[in-house]
Amino acid sequence: MEGFVQMFQKKTRASNLLSFFVLISIQTFANDLFEGQSGEIISIPAAVQENSDFLTFKTSSGTKQLVSLPFVKQDLMITRHHVNVKVNWVNFGESRITIADESKVTLSKEDQSRATKEAIEIKKALSNSTTEITPSFDFVPPVPGIVTSPFGKQRFVNGLPRSAHLALDLRGSVGTPIIAPLKGKVVLIGDYFYTGLTLILDHGYGLFSSYAHMSEIKVRLGDLVEQSNEIGLVGATGRVTGPHLHWTVYFDGNKVNPESLIQEDYLSSIL
Ligand SMILES: [Zn+2]
Repeated sequence: MEGFVQMFQKKTRASNLLSFFVLISIQTFANDLFEGQSGEIISIPAAVQENSDFLTFKTSSGTKQLVSLPFVKQDLMITRHHVNVKVNWVNFGESRITIADESKVTLSKEDQSRATKEAIEIKKALSNSTTEITPSFDFVPPVPGIVTSPFGKQRFVNGLPRSAHLALDLRGSVGTPIIAPLKGKVVLIGDYFYTGLTLILDHGYGLFSSYAHMSEIKVRLGDLVEQSNEIGLVGATGRVTGPHLHWTVYFDGNKVNPESLIQEDYLSSIL
């Protein structure tokens, strides 16, 4: 009897497994499954129903569009635009920093409301992207410095977990020129609690980049800057442990890994 029960259980498990695979293959067949890493951009076949504000690329395997994947803390199935995507978790590691000025860690009521107001301002600047510029995705590094903190690291400030570092820190001494990595329009200039002197460029079609902790800004709101034009100088303004450039790139509603974008032939590598 015991043997029969075991056999029965085995058979049930096997047929469950079989129906699971059948289900998966039907799903895949009916609705292509795409895959990519946390914080990266992938390409998908362009949907005819997408509006013309969406950037498309003609390739030998058809017309494609780019989709950004969010930063995830575990593998995640999501639907982006018209496709299902599996976003793979990446172990980016962690970093622990100490900020001596406790008032910049545990915010006073005034600082908290200032930071909240500034976050809304930044969100607003990112809410509307121009279609007058077509981004080439052919980025050049904004400063020549080496990476001091990569994208995705879990941050601990004075021992307490904070949000992950969804930007790239590049080494640079105060006064190092920062250049536009791509043609763009200056859509925000501010002096903020966390990010100090800050500048945001709109590169078109939902691609933005931001520059934080600058010591000086060399452009004005509304300026159109060409690739490699100087936009400002590296500094140590806002909440920092030392001078560096904190470079954030946003695309299609997510913060993406800037380090991938400066790889050679980046666009052709993802199309
Ligand atoms: Zn940073």
